[in-house]
Amino acid sequence: MRCLSCHKLSLSTFCKKCQTNLLQPTILQRDFGDLKVYSFFKYQNIEDLLLTKHTPQGFKLYKALAKLSFKPFMQKFMQEDSRMVYVVGIDENVKSGYAHVALLTHEMKVKNVKVEHAKLMAKNQNSYAGKNLQFRLENPRDFVYNGKKGIEVILVDDIVTTGTTLKEAVKVLKQNGVEVLFALTLASVV
Ligand SMILES: [Zn+2]
Repeated sequence: MRCLSCHKLSLSTFCKKCQTNLLQPTILQRDFGDLKVYSFFKYQNIEDLLLTKHTPQGFKLYKALAKLSFKPFMQKFMQEDSRMVYVVGIDENVKSGYAHVALLTHEMKVKNVKVEHAKLMAKNQNSYAGKNLQFRLENPRDFVYNGKKGIEVILVDDIVTTGTTLKEAVKVLKQNGVEVLFALTLASVV
């Protein structure tokens, strides 16, 4: 196969060179009120790759990026923590053949971590792409949560832009007795 990034022959989704030079995750932190959001990549650095999101390649891309970022993060995080932590992905709906966020949360299954798959679903499926804050505020996602109550969770989304979606998700989870420790996203648009 060929590397998804440089298109040279490679045995894995990304060749070793791209993994080292281009796809080393770093942790970016953004604060939205009480909510801390950690992201692994700057959106503009992997924009070309993320634009394949709605193509068959996107499935491989999300899986490979999650293995490089979410997985090692959780392994390290849970080393220092002995309590049970849950993971809730935002709107794990199937679009273009797969649920993008589910590929990310799937890689977070390590010891003492339980993933609540497809438990926080949006009733409003309007696309936010290219839309401003005003539009996002006027068209809330209308989340419905039907997962476990009284738990501590890490909230997961693929991209954070204005934080509107994450804040709305936290509010709905709180109403269900769920405490969000922090949010993790693949990329941040800053
Ligand atoms: Zn490459």
